[in-house]
Amino acid sequence: LNHKDYSKLDTNELKEHYEVLNEKYDGYLSQNLSLDMSRGKPSAEQLELSKEMLNIVSTHDDLHAEDGSDCLNYGVIDGIPEAKRFFSNMLGVSTKEIIIGGNSSLNMMFDAISRAMLQGVYGGAANWGKAPIKFICPTPGYDRHFAICEFFNIEMILVDLTHEGPDMDTVEDLVRADDSIKGIWCVPKYSNPEGITYSDQIVDRLASMDTKAKDFRIFWDDAYTVHHLTNTPDPLKNILTACKEAGHADRVFMFSSTSKITFPGAGVAVLAASEDNLNFIRKQISIQTIGPDKINQLRHVRFLRDLDHLKLHMEKHAAIIKPKFDLVLNKFESELGGKNIAFWNKPNGGYFISLNTLDGCAQAVVSMAAKAGVKLTNAGATFPYGQDPRDRNIRIAPTYPSLTELETAIEVLCLCVQLVSINKFLIQAV
Ligand code: PMP
Repeated sequence: LNHKDYSKLDTNELKEHYEVLNEKYDGYLSQNLSLDMSRGKPSAEQLELSKEMLNIVSTHDDLHAEDGSDCLNYGVIDGIPEAKRFFSNMLGVSTKEIIIGGNSSLNMMFDAISRAMLQGVYGGAANWGKAPIKFICPTPGYDRHFAICEFFNIEMILVDLTHEGPDMDTVEDLVRADDSIKGIWCVPKYSNPEGITYSDQIVDRLASMDTKAKDFRIFWDDAYTVHHLTNTPDPLKNILTACKEAGHADRVFMFSSTSKITFPGAGVAVLAASEDNLNFIRKQISIQTIGPDKINQLRHVRFLRDLDHLKLHMEKHAAIIKPKFDLVLNKFESELGGKNIAFWNKPNGGYFISLNTLDGCAQAVVSMAAKAGVKLTNAGATFPYGQDPRDRNIRIAPTYPSLTELETAIEVLCLCVQLVSINKFLIQAV
C-alpha cells in the first residue's frame, strides 16, 4: 500500500493500513520526543560561521567609519557610508536610496506602518490612521506581517500566491477600485513559506498597476535575497527600478537584513526606497533616535566585505542547510509521494518548505505531531488571523534541528499526514 493513491483504496484497505501506521505512531509516542521545527532559525552550526565577526571590532581596532565618524559616539542617523555602499549593492539601489537601521527589518516594517498611520507617507494627503484601511496579503505568507496588520487594525484581504507571485488579476482589480487599500505585503524571493520567487512580469505589474490610493505602498520584504540553495539562483527583477520606470518611484519600501546571514539577534537591517520617501522618513526617524548601532554596521561591513565575499559566506550556509532541505524533500517523496494526500514545493532558497495536506487536515496533523513531541508552526499561521480557509497549509522550517532530529521529526510528520488523511477518507466513506 505504500505508494498507492489513497483515494483509490477501499475501506478495508484503509483500515488495515491505518492500524499499521498507528502502531508506528504509538512507538513514537513512547519515545518522549522533544523536537522543534516551528520557527525559521539558523542552527548553532550556522551561527558559528559568523562568530569571527565578533573579534573584528575590538579595543585595538580603529573604530572610525570611512568618513571619520566615530562609531562609538552619537550620530549618523541613516548609516555609515561603507554600510550604505555594501547594502545598496546587495539590494541593487543607490547609496542615496538606503537607510541602515537597527537589528531587525521586521521592526523597520512595523515602524514604517506606524509612522504612516500617524503621519501618512510622502505625497499622501492624510495619515493612514484617519480612516479604516486595508492591506492585500498574498497567502500563504509570513505570519508576522499579518500580526502587524492585526495590531494596527488594518483589514487584510487574502489573495492567492501563485508559483510566480500574487494573483495579479485580482490584485489589480482590488487596488484600482478601492482607495482604502494602502498596501501589499510581498516576500518576493524564496517567499515565506512557499519558497517562490516573483517573475519579472509580476514585478512589472506591481510597479505599473493603477491604484486608487495615491499613497499606496508595496512592502517588499526581501528577507531571503542572497539565501540560495543551488548554484542557479532565482533571478528577481529590481522593484525600485521597475517602479521608477513605471512613473511610480515612491510606491515601494524595500526591507532586508542580515538576520540569516550573520546573527538573527544581532544583525543589521535596512530600508530602501526613493530619495523623496527617505527624506520624508529620515526626519521622522531622527525624532525617534539619535542613530542606530554603528559598531555593528562596521563589524558587518568589515566581515562581509563585498558581494563576492558575501556569496562565499552564503555558500557556507547553503552547505549546512541544503542537506536538511534534501532530507525533508526525500522523506516527503518516499513517505507521501504518489498517495495524493499531500503536495509540497521544492524551493531554490530561503528557509521554508510549504506542505499542503488534503483540505481540512492541517490542524489535526499539527496537533497529532505535537502530541508525539514534534512542534510545528501552528496550522493557520501562514494566513491572516491565523485562519487557513482550507486548513491545509503547514510551514516546515528545516534549518534549526540537526539532521538526525529532522529525520525523526519528518517521519512523525509523514505518519501524522497519512493517519489524518486516512481518517478523512474513512469519514467520507461512512
Ligand atoms: N521577513 C521574513 C519574510 C522573515 O521570514 C523573517 C524572519 N523569519 C523576517 C522578515 C524577520 O527579519 P528580521 O530578523 O530582520 O526582523
